[in-house]
Amino acid sequence: MQILLVEDDVELAAALVRALRARGYAVNQVGNGRLALTAVRTEAPDIVVLDLGLPDMDGLQVLRGIRANERHLPVLVLTARNSVEDLVEGLDRGADDYLPKPFAMSELLARLRVLERRLGTSTSSEIRVGEVSLDTARLEVRCDGVAIDLPRREYMLLKALMENAGKVLSRASLESRLYGWGEEVASNALEVHVHHLRRKLGTQFIQTVRGVGYRIPLP
Ligand code: CA
Repeated sequence: MQILLVEDDVELAAALVRALRARGYAVNQVGNGRLALTAVRTEAPDIVVLDLGLPDMDGLQVLRGIRANERHLPVLVLTARNSVEDLVEGLDRGADDYLPKPFAMSELLARLRVLERRLGTSTSSEIRVGEVSLDTARLEVRCDGVAIDLPRREYMLLKALMENAGKVLSRASLESRLYGWGEEVASNALEVHVHHLRRKLGTQFIQTVRGVGYRIPLP
């Protein structure tokens, strides 16, 4: 589960990143609205945690920017403002949930679990691209109907690329999904996983986008 954390308060952001990584989330943190909108496009996060008080843009403007392209991306809004008007406005503009500051970490984690569950139930568990299908509920991959056994990291890599079929995912984004726990990553680890997946699914299934990352093209 990849979280984009948009928070400009350096201490709070560092504490949140530590706590979320400790629970196994892959976290990318940015400190302003402009970087947040770029990251939503290039990193394809699963959930956005968005502070409304940002240095360069109003958080609600960022939320509108996200919603312009990503209608279903769950956004959990954080804000020090606690008036009813802000709450209503945030929800009206497409926030999925709202957490007033200060909040307990346990509360944030509970809200994230709710959004995660919603993600799991709102979309079909099967993703299909060409002859390859991936069942995220059963953790099953089939190619031409034949079940294929994949090690965990190859499965995670394939899932990220198939969920974003047609889009290029950057190396950094893929590495943070596969190694989001502060692990050492060998510089060629990603290439090795891609190589194995190509051997199992066909050499053309995953494209290299030179200098950027990888993509599974839509058939
Ligand atoms: Ca702030």
